[in-house]
Amino acid sequence: MVIFKYIEDVKYYLENKREEGFRIAFIPTMGALHNGHISLINEAKQAKPAGYNSAIAIPAKKLTVASIFVNPTQFNDKEDFEKYPVSGENDIQMLAEAGCDVLFMPQVTEIYPGGPDNIPTFEFGYLETVLEGAQRPGHFKGVGQVVARLLDIVQPDELYLGQKDYQQCMVLKDLIRQLGKEDTINLHISSTQREPDGLAMSSRNRRLTEPQRAIAALIYQCLVSIQAKQSTDKFELVQKECNDLLEEKGFSPEYISLADANNLELLTDFDSNRKMIVLIAAKLGNVRLIDNMLLN
Ligand code: AMP
Repeated sequence: MVIFKYIEDVKYYLENKREEGFRIAFIPTMGALHNGHISLINEAKQAKPAGYNSAIAIPAKKLTVASIFVNPTQFNDKEDFEKYPVSGENDIQMLAEAGCDVLFMPQVTEIYPGGPDNIPTFEFGYLETVLEGAQRPGHFKGVGQVVARLLDIVQPDELYLGQKDYQQCMVLKDLIRQLGKEDTINLHISSTQREPDGLAMSSRNRRLTEPQRAIAALIYQCLVSIQAKQSTDKFELVQKECNDLLEEKGFSPEYISLADANNLELLTDFDSNRKMIVLIAAKLGNVRLIDNMLLN
């Protein structure tokens, strides 16, 4: 695996590879890697490259590029940013073992020379006003800003994101459209990787204390129970049951919401004519956890 810290160097390297016929698959991360991240690398490596044509004897070659950058502009909570886990050496080893070809790990000054105000931002309308957008003001502005910058540097043919951050996937799909790249970037959304007890893998899980970790999978259990009750109960009822249960165990739920999976329009009750998703955000101590499940 080749590691780059500077934009100029990674751009030069990737330009040469592109000229050699490589397609580029990109996996942006904030580091503190776990098997959820590695599943994105594995999928990128396994999927046939965009442009692959089985009728051509030599398939297009693919290069897997990951980035690690803890983006300060997407943290609305200063403490969350300051306590965001960092595990540089371990991350590098995990990526190398997974067969990642290139790692880009820039400093903040490299991404934001002259500060973040000098880099364009994007509007995501309704998506910025609900769920994560409502709970974390400015978060998606920061995400859009950094991903636009990274896409411009890496110029990928394929982008791999995790369903764990479902709303972020929708925001970034819209970003790709706003950048006029929907015909050049193939977006892949990979399923959420979970711990054996169901807890969605997350870098923030390592900030949980032992007793907190022991109950953290309750969020997943709530999602499962909501899914199981979609054709028998009213959403309001199961939402309240889950809210009460989470509170009783010491969580502070921020939302337990049902939405149309195509546009995140919030729904008051189950509607089997729509593709539905349930999304939960809850704090356990000062660790904020999110998860979601497609219902049908
Ligand atoms: P992060 O480092 O949290 O910014 O995540 C980088 C990418 O990994 C994002 O596209 C996430 O959605 C994805 N990701 C994070 N956790 C998981 C998980 N448990 N399963 C699959 N993908 C994940």
